[in-house]
Amino acid sequence: MKITERYIGIRARRTAPRPRVRPGAVLVMLCILQAAAILLAAGVMPLNACALAPDAAKTVICIDPGHGGLEYGAVAEYNGIEVREKYLNFNIAKKLCRALAQYENVETVLTRSGDREVSIKERVNIAAAADADVLISLHNNKPFNEEETDIGGCMILTPVSRYRPSWCETDIYEVGTALGESIIKQFQDMGIPLSREFDVNKTGGLLRRPYNRKEGMAKKDVRYPDGSYADYYGLIRIGVEAGIPVVIVEHAYISNEQDYRAYLKYSDSLQSLADADARGIAEALGLRMADR
Ligand SMILES: [Zn+2]
Repeated sequence: MKITERYIGIRARRTAPRPRVRPGAVLVMLCILQAAAILLAAGVMPLNACALAPDAAKTVICIDPGHGGLEYGAVAEYNGIEVREKYLNFNIAKKLCRALAQYENVETVLTRSGDREVSIKERVNIAAAADADVLISLHNNKPFNEEETDIGGCMILTPVSRYRPSWCETDIYEVGTALGESIIKQFQDMGIPLSREFDVNKTGGLLRRPYNRKEGMAKKDVRYPDGSYADYYGLIRIGVEAGIPVVIVEHAYISNEQDYRAYLKYSDSLQSLADADARGIAEALGLRMADR
């Protein structure tokens, strides 16, 4: 099954470089293994218990509420009330954490716990320190040309290249694509249209933007070590270099009044977006609902 294969790929990221193991430690580990085998044979240890890797079955999802602090993100004003993207993103992030808690063996980590500025590098560092399997960055959009307030809908930014660090066995491109496709599907089921910006309505709502002058419209060309064009978006690029699949979820346009009223204005609407994110993530990563 396609999704399951991708899921197996995610688990493989844990083969990232680790500190060299001293011979003494190997001996201790062998002793533990032997003890575990004896306990297992005696029927006193459950089959799924693993003394050496207690979190091996756990999926760690790093949730990144975009912007924060003085970095407001997209801003709009409706009826004299200013709407700032950073608050919406954080609100959805908290709801998403709660929604993902309903699934088995899932741990969530937030890149910011309050309204503060966090650099892109720091966000990836937080994900890497938590040994995150994926990094999901939550945003709400404004058009490239700010006057085009009629543009609305969703899009998801996913890794552009098939490059991954030599030690990383996760197929970053495929995992990013699986996440992007399944979250977009949830948005479409909710009735959110695909944005027409960057022609993402012709690519199923996914935007893979290369860091080059030609297609990416960047000022310079930047490549990964394998020669392929790097990701234009820093969070995705730094994530790829750290061996972590990153997707940037643009739920809807703050600048579009219709989007704002339909999907962003009320707490219930933000809950629906978070639930859609959670269902999409769960489907792509093969998560199972926990028994109640
Ligand atoms: Zn944003």
